[in-house]
Amino acid sequence: MEKGSAGVKHGSSSPWGEEHLIPLAEFLQKLEVNENGLSEEEAARRLLKCGPNILEDAGKENILKRYFRQFRNFFSILLIVGAALSFLGQYLDPGQGNIYIGIALVGVVFLNGTFTFIQEYQAVKTMESFRQLLPPHAKVLRDGNLRYVLASELVPGDVILLEEGDKVPADGRLIEINSLKVDNSALTGESEPQLRSLECTHSNLLECRNMVFSGTLVQSGNGKAVIFATGHDTQIGSLAILTEQTSSVDTPIRKELNHFIKIISAIAISLGVTFFLLAFFLQDIFLASLIFAIGIIVANVPEGLLPTVTLALSLASRRMASRDALIKQLESVETLGSTTVICTDKTGTLTQNRMAVNSLIIGFEILEPDKSSIYQDGIKAQDINKNVKKGPAEKVADSTNIAGSGETEISAASSPVIYMEKIPPAFIRVAGLCNNAKLYESPPGYTGDPTEGALLVFANSFMDIRGLQGKYQRLEEFPFDSLTRRMEVICRTPEGELEAYLKGAPEVVVQMCTSVMEAGTVRELDESGKKELLEKDLRLAEKGERVIALAFRKAEDLKESTGGFVFLGFIGIVDPPRPEAREAIARCHAAGIKVVMITGDHPVTAESIARNVGLAGSGKPEIITGDELKSLSRKELASRLKNPSIVFARTSPVQKLKIVQLFQAEGEIVTMTGDGVNDAPAIKNADMGVAMGSGTDVAREAADMVLLDDNFATIVNAVEEGRTVFDNIKKFIVYILASNIPEILPFIAFVLLSIPLPMPVQLILAIDLGTDILPAIALGVEKGEGDIMERPPRRKDEKLLTPQVLLTAYGVKGPIEAAAGFFCYFAVLFEGGWTFGERLANTNPLYMQAITAFFSAVVICQIANVFASRTGTQSVFSVGLLKNRLVLLGIASELFILALIIWNPFANLIFNTAPIELRYMLLSVPFAVLLLGVDELRKYLLRKNIKWATRLFKW
Ligand code: ADP
Ligand code: MG
Repeated sequence: MEKGSAGVKHGSSSPWGEEHLIPLAEFLQKLEVNENGLSEEEAARRLLKCGPNILEDAGKENILKRYFRQFRNFFSILLIVGAALSFLGQYLDPGQGNIYIGIALVGVVFLNGTFTFIQEYQAVKTMESFRQLLPPHAKVLRDGNLRYVLASELVPGDVILLEEGDKVPADGRLIEINSLKVDNSALTGESEPQLRSLECTHSNLLECRNMVFSGTLVQSGNGKAVIFATGHDTQIGSLAILTEQTSSVDTPIRKELNHFIKIISAIAISLGVTFFLLAFFLQDIFLASLIFAIGIIVANVPEGLLPTVTLALSLASRRMASRDALIKQLESVETLGSTTVICTDKTGTLTQNRMAVNSLIIGFEILEPDKSSIYQDGIKAQDINKNVKKGPAEKVADSTNIAGSGETEISAASSPVIYMEKIPPAFIRVAGLCNNAKLYESPPGYTGDPTEGALLVFANSFMDIRGLQGKYQRLEEFPFDSLTRRMEVICRTPEGELEAYLKGAPEVVVQMCTSVMEAGTVRELDESGKKELLEKDLRLAEKGERVIALAFRKAEDLKESTGGFVFLGFIGIVDPPRPEAREAIARCHAAGIKVVMITGDHPVTAESIARNVGLAGSGKPEIITGDELKSLSRKELASRLKNPSIVFARTSPVQKLKIVQLFQAEGEIVTMTGDGVNDAPAIKNADMGVAMGSGTDVAREAADMVLLDDNFATIVNAVEEGRTVFDNIKKFIVYILASNIPEILPFIAFVLLSIPLPMPVQLILAIDLGTDILPAIALGVEKGEGDIMERPPRRKDEKLLTPQVLLTAYGVKGPIEAAAGFFCYFAVLFEGGWTFGERLANTNPLYMQAITAFFSAVVICQIANVFASRTGTQSVFSVGLLKNRLVLLGIASELFILALIIWNPFANLIFNTAPIELRYMLLSVPFAVLLLGVDELRKYLLRKNIKWATRLFKW
C-alpha cells in the first residue's frame, strides 16, 4: 500500500486524483481491498500508517482580529475618550496626577477587552468540546461484517455504508447506490442535492457523480463506497474550508446588550456634556471641568458588565451541558428562555423510541398477545456506542407492558412458537426483508430506524433473518419516505421468481391491496373488507400503537407496484411514553409555554399518546392532520392554533417548516425539534432549532442545540436555564447600576456646590472593577427563583434595560447609597473642622479620610445591595441567605478590598486614601439596612400585585 493515499494531494500528478476515472477493478486493486472490506488487522495497520481520519481545526478565525473586536464597543470608546481627556489635562496642567488616571483608563480598556476575549475564547472552546461529545461514527465493513466505528478510525480501503442523513466521513468512490442523493454544498456551494451514479460522469473529480466527499451530507437513499482518502488528504481537508460558519445573526440577547450599551452611553454623554458646560460657566476652570467630564464618563460606564454577561452565559451553557443539552452558540441559551411554543416530535422525544412489537393482526384475525408479551426489545447499537446516556432497559419493561428485557433470551411462555402456525412465512419475509435496519452481533442490537429495528427483531425471532436475506436477494428498493409512508422492495426468491414486499401506514397499504391472505389462503378483498381492516387498525391505534401494514405480491419486473398486493396483516408497535415527559409538559403549561406535538403517526395513535403524556390537559386536544394543514386557509389555521394543546398528525417533515412559520406569524418564539434530513429546514428557521443526539448528522448540523438524551424534559430544563440567565443578567445590572449614582452625584455636587470632590476617579474604578465584580458574577449563578417556570414567557419586546430597572437602580437604591456616602463624607469633614466653602488640597489628610469614608459607605451599601438583588420578587429571606456561596465569597472580596484601601499604606498611596475610624464606617450601616428594607418592601408590593408598584418597579 505504498501507493496508499497518505500524501495524496488534490491536483497532484500522481495516479491518485484519478480515482473517479479508472475502472473499478483497478481502483479496488490499487487500494488492495475487495467489496467485503478490509480485515481488522489490515485496517489497524493502515490506521497507524495514514493517521486518524480527522481534520484539525482548519480555519481558526484570526485570533488577533477577534481580540480587537472586543474594543469596538461603545464602552471601550468612551473610556478611551476619557483617557484622552486625562492626557490632555496632564498636558495643560502637569503634576496633578491626571496622567495616572489616563494610564489607568487605558489599562482598564485593555484589561476589559482581554478579559472579555478570554471569556469568549473559553466559550468557543467549550462549544468545541461539546461537539466532541458527539463524535461522528461510520458504518463500515470489516471482514465482511458490519461494524459501527468512530469516523476517525476510517482508513483508505475501508468500505462504508451511507444512509439518508449521514455526514460522509471521508472521500470515497461509490460501488453501490440506491437513489443516493448528496448535498455537496459544504464543499462546492452547490445547494441542490445531486443524484449519484456508479459511472464516471465528469473529468473533474469534484463534479464526478461516482464520488462522495468528506463533510457532505446524504440527503436521501443509500449506498456503499470505498474510501480512498482520509483526514487532510480529503478534498475538504486540502481546501481547508472547514471554518466555523458562525452566522452573525444577532441573537436576542446580543440585541439587548447593544440596546443597553447605547442607552447607558447616551446617559453618560449627555450628562458629561451638560455638566461640563455648567462647570465651565459656574467654576470657570477649564481643567476642573475636564476632570469632571472624565469622572462622569467613568462613573457611568459599568466596566465589569460585558465580561460578566459572557461569563454568566458561559456558566449557564455548562450547566445545560451537564443536563444533556449542548448548545452551539453561547447566546442561544437565552433565546430558549424566551420560547413561547415548543414544537416537539412525538417519537423518541415524548416517547422512548424503544419500539417493540406488541400486537399482531394476521389477515382479519387479532392475535391477542398474553400479558407477558411477545418480543424482545432490541437495543439500538448507536445507543451503546455513542456514550449517550439512556435509561436502563429495565426501565422500559417496568413502565410498559413489554416484557422483553433487551436480552437475547426469549422466555418460554412467550415463545413465538405459539404463533408459528398462525403467521404466514410471507409475513415474516416482508417484516425482515422490506427492512433497512441491521442486526449486530457485537454489541448485540440493531442500527437504523427503530420502527424497522423492532420489526427486524420480531422477524428474527421466527427465522434467521440473515440467512433469509442471503436466500432472497434484494434487487430493488423504494425507500420509506414520510410523504408516501411506505417502503417497497423487490427480491428474487430461491425459486427464481420476483416478489414485491410492501410495508407502510395502514391506509396507504390497504389501499394498494386487492386480496387478503387468511389462514394460508388468498381471497379477494373488496371495499367493505378494506373498511373492516382499517377499523381493526384503529383498535391498535387507540392503544397508542404505531401500526404498520404488511403486504406482498408477485412481481414481473423491477418497477414499483402501486396495486394488486395481497394484504398480510398489521403489526402494532408500542413506543412507551417517557416517564418524565408528563411532568415536563405540566411545567411548560405552568410556564405559559404551548407544547405542540408533531408526528407522522395516525391521529388516533397521536391522540392516545398525547393523553398519556398529559398534553391534552382536561379538554380535547386540537388535532390537525397533514391534509388539513395543506387545505385550510391561514386564517382558519390561525384560529385553531389558539388551542392550548395541539397535535399535528399524519404530517410529513416538510410540513414542519410551515408549522414553524405559522406560529412565527402569530408572533410566537418557536423552539422546534427534529432528527431527520427533512427536518433541517424547520430546525434552521425556528427561533431555536433542537436536534436529537441520536438524529441524523444533517439535523445536528442545522440545530442550535443538540439533546444528548433526546428527551423532551431536557428541553424544558434548558428553557429554565435560559429564563434564569435573563433574570440573573437583570439582577446584576440592577446591582452594578445602583453604584453609578454615588459615583455620579459627587461630581455634580463638586460642580454645583463647589465642595471638594467626594469620589475621585480612581475610587470609582476601585468599585466598578474591584468590589463590584465578584458579587456581580455571583448574581449570575443565582438559581432561578421559585416561580421562574410559573410565569408567562417574557414578551418579545421586553428589554434587559427597562425603565423599571433604571428606576430601581437609579431612583431608589442609588440615592440611598449616595446619601450614605455624603453623610459619612461630611461627618468626617465637619468633625475635622472643615467649614463649607473651604477648599481642600488633594493631599490634605482630612480630605483623604473623607473620600475614604465616602467610598466605604458605598461599598457597605453595595453589600446590602448584592443581597437584595438576589431576588426580583421573592423575599431574599425566603431563598436561604447562605445558599449562594459565591455571593458570600463576593462579599468577602468586597470587605477585603475595602480593608486594603482603608488600611494598607501602599493602597493608600495609590488611591489617595487614609485610615479612618471604625465608627465612620458604622455610620453607613443604617443606610445599608434601609436599602435592604426598601427593596423588601418593593418585592412585597410586587408579590401583592399592587398596580402602581408593578408599573414602576417590576423588572
Ligand atoms: P414520525 O414522524 O412519528 O416518526 P413517520 O413519518 O416516520 O412518523 O411515519 C408515519 C407512518 O408511516 C407511521 O405511522 C407508520 O405507519 C409508517 N412507517 C413509519 N416508518 C416506516 C417504515 N420504516 N416503513 C414503512 N412504514 C413506516
Ligand atoms: Mg419517523
